[in-house]
Amino acid sequence: MAMNCETFKSNIDAYIDGALGRDERLMMEKHAEGCASCRELMKEALMLMDMCAELSEVSVPLQAQAAWRKAVRDEAKK
Ligand SMILES: [Zn+2]
Repeated sequence: MAMNCETFKSNIDAYIDGALGRDERLMMEKHAEGCASCRELMKEALMLMDMCAELSEVSVPLQAQAAWRKAVRDEAKK
């Protein structure tokens, strides 16, 4: 699998979900190192994930979780 911006964006959801394998994660991180826009996307996704992790301690309604996932996806489409 060649990592480019398209692949990166389609995988960012799986990345923040921890659904990617080790090699895939490494490829994502490598791409982000050399690509400013994907780095930015990853940063935002991780920020959202942090927010979500904090929120989930007080139990986030599924609706809110779906909303931030959608936000990440919309961001990836830009
Ligand atoms: Zn990129």
